[in-house]
Amino acid sequence: MTLDGKRRELDKIASVAGFRPEDAYFIRGEFKIEIDTPEGKSTLYTDEGLNYCCDCASDLVAKARIHTVDAAGDDEKAREAVTEDFDDNHRVVFTQLHSEDGSMQCEECHKTLDYALNDIGFFAELDHYESLEFGEKLLPGDAYAIARLLDAVDQVQEDDQDQEDTNDDDEEDLVSELADLDMEDEYDRERAEEIEQELAVLRAAEPKVRNPTAEERVIAVAERALKLTREHSPAVPSL
Ligand SMILES: [Zn+2]
Repeated sequence: MTLDGKRRELDKIASVAGFRPEDAYFIRGEFKIEIDTPEGKSTLYTDEGLNYCCDCASDLVAKARIHTVDAAGDDEKAREAVTEDFDDNHRVVFTQLHSEDGSMQCEECHKTLDYALNDIGFFAELDHYESLEFGEKLLPGDAYAIARLLDAVDQVQEDDQDQEDTNDDDEEDLVSELADLDMEDEYDRERAEEIEQELAVLRAAEPKVRNPTAEERVIAVAERALKLTREHSPAVPSL
């Protein structure tokens, strides 16, 4: 199965189980309003770094609006002015979540929000799922999160790759320097001997155990998750 096939299967497991992430929204214009509730003092707070599902963002703005307008007193003109000012400065806005350090939840109700991972988020989630015991059954939220890892793997920058390239470059540089040396020249002959020794050391070195690439690691996680799901899917009764 291709990488994309795995992603689709995992997304399907999540959606068939009723797991659907919410679109993410933020509230433009901050507020911090102290309110009295039957349970005591409370604070209506938001800033533009916080994300919500649409319902929670709208509810929070509506509550803040009521309290702000009430604070203006009974004068109708004053109330109108405050209402207008509040509406001008606070708005529920759709968030494009395309570079996240991890999965995203609504600040109020904690529902999962639709998101895409950046490099930091990718490796944090990958480490998490590599060490996670899935238990009896794959949870739909985990299926969705692993599908997001598969989404991100193509864009991830790996440090390991740079290291391997550097070692190969060393050998290539030495070989090409050797080819350019003049064996009639005493200094070049000495340099050639040095290079031969350096190359011998490089080539004799134990081949490094290659670390699995990010893609191999994600595929291993996805296959473990999918295998679990297949094992626990209800078998077709044989007649
Ligand atoms: Zn919510």
